[in-house]
Amino acid sequence: MVSRVIPVDRFDLVIFGGTGDLARRKILPGLFRRFMAGQMPEGSRIIGAARSELDDQAYRDMAREALEEFIDKDRRPKECVDAFIEQIHYVAIDATGTGGWSELAQTMSSDTVRAFYFSVAPSLFGALAERLHEHNIADSQSRIVVEKPFGRDLETARTLNRTLAQHFDETQIYRIDHYLGKETVQNLMAVRFGNVLFEPLWNSQYVDHIQITVAETVGVGGRGAYYDKSGAMRDMVQNHLMQLLCLIAMEPPSRFDPDAVRDEKLKVIRALEPVAPHDIVRGQYDAFNGAPSYREDVEDPQSLTESFIAMKLHVSNWRWAGTPFYLRTGKKLRARTSEIAVVFKDAPHSIFGQAEKAHRNILTIRLQPNEGMTLGVTIKEPGPGGMRLIDVPLDMSFADALGPEAGEVPDAYERLIMDVIRGNQTLFMRGDEVEAAWAWTDPIIEGWEARGDAPKPYEPGTSGPEDAQILIHREGRRWREIKE
Ligand code: NAD
Repeated sequence: MVSRVIPVDRFDLVIFGGTGDLARRKILPGLFRRFMAGQMPEGSRIIGAARSELDDQAYRDMAREALEEFIDKDRRPKECVDAFIEQIHYVAIDATGTGGWSELAQTMSSDTVRAFYFSVAPSLFGALAERLHEHNIADSQSRIVVEKPFGRDLETARTLNRTLAQHFDETQIYRIDHYLGKETVQNLMAVRFGNVLFEPLWNSQYVDHIQITVAETVGVGGRGAYYDKSGAMRDMVQNHLMQLLCLIAMEPPSRFDPDAVRDEKLKVIRALEPVAPHDIVRGQYDAFNGAPSYREDVEDPQSLTESFIAMKLHVSNWRWAGTPFYLRTGKKLRARTSEIAVVFKDAPHSIFGQAEKAHRNILTIRLQPNEGMTLGVTIKEPGPGGMRLIDVPLDMSFADALGPEAGEVPDAYERLIMDVIRGNQTLFMRGDEVEAAWAWTDPIIEGWEARGDAPKPYEPGTSGPEDAQILIHREGRRWREIKE
């Protein structure tokens, strides 16, 4: 099955921070793949903008190297790379200075969609917005793409929202959370709202609990200084896990349109109950087999920042009253995996006798690796010997169901960039959503700080601290195994 490619209008995409890690690893390779798919109409341009004094040629060389590093050789025929590179330009600009802006203004074409990707430190977002306005580079149709982190608490997020709002309307601001660009995350909405099968069961009457796990095997690596000021709560829970929770818990929007979807997500965040300290476990990875501990990685022997968090949440509304949501994320865990598991309740009565009690149905939505969904169903074990029950997975792997090309789904970034060009904000966070998420997060973090809570150490390669197991065991439930 060949995926349909929807044409987009001609565009100029300016990447502020065009020489940075994100531009090299994700944005430029993603744009190349869209070019290969025919989604970079003739005359469209990518304009790198950063502080380094480069000319077009030097930046093109850098872009070529990025493609060589991040795209398999057989996926980048030389003539295609050459043609793509022709569409790339560069302007040296300091976000806080005056040089380069008139040159950028002259470089922009007319009658094209103008998008500005702020792939720089958040402290520069305000200056960029102001200068784009000052130099008349952005018009009322232009879009800005804003990277995470969007603030570090409610106050900073509000300030950032206000600063951007001075020069751009909310309909022009695309706050990126790349989790929302993942194919399976969107499929979650398709499965919930495109089928009659699940929605009647999607509530506390039939769902025992829901688990959301985002596990990494890597430590903080070279990002230690940044990460230590943030921690798992700010870096992962406030944004990515919260967004996944919203899509699982929200009411059906009346239409699949940006504000209808985001209104429903916002209601979920606002319905979150405050979390009691005993419903949260924070962890920090230890040294192991010669590998440094978290504190060694961030070069602070006293750091109280968490590299792991597990928590139990309640969404306080009619649909979910009494159904807990367990969230868990961390670094240096057993496997790299992201999944959502909807664990349904037991059948109300077993006709097969106590020994053959039906197992629980679990709908598992895997975000990585092997994007797909599995529904665990109970069946009769084949063969003679009476009615013995076993669980089997109904596997809805995209690759199996839709053919091998379905496995080649666009990366989250390239999909989201194309949405920006199309002017579709459905998969981007609205300002009030981000603020509501911080309003829920802030008191939790303030509580830790006030009490001086220390995270529990855990051994790398495990599922996190023992207390995280206790958090869920004490209610007769168990985490799903962290495995690839
Ligand atoms: P980076 O440090 O690798 O690159 C920063 C870029 O900003 C460079 O191109 C640099 O030249 C440019 N820059 C710095 N100061 C400037 C100034 N005054 N004027 C103009 N340009 C300036 O950073 P990165 O990893 O590419 O991250 C960029 C943004 O994306 C950050 O907000 C980061 O939090 C976010 N982000 C990055 C990743 C990632 O995987 N790298 C993931 C999620 C979010």
